Amino acid sequence: MALSRDKCVLCGKEAVRSLATSRLAEAFGNLGNLKLPLKGRVGLCKEHYRLYKKKVKAERETSLARMKDLYS
Ligand SMILES: [Zn+2]
Repeated sequence: MALSRDKCVLCGKEAVRSLATSRLAEAFGNLGNLKLPLKGRVGLCKEHYRLYKKKVKAERETSLARMKDLYS
């Protein structure tokens, strides 16, 4: 089990996914109070991974809406 030793970087629960730190920072914005490695990957638990996906999706929808405005 490669992931069994990983913990969620946000809450310390068992991680189900790992993400590049830069992508995490993009999705969650200000992570200044977290000690994140500048490179590499960090773990996310189920809940925080869901939250991450939600944020990424919201961002994508915002830029899609912006594109629609441009072409309508
Ligand atoms: Zn978590």
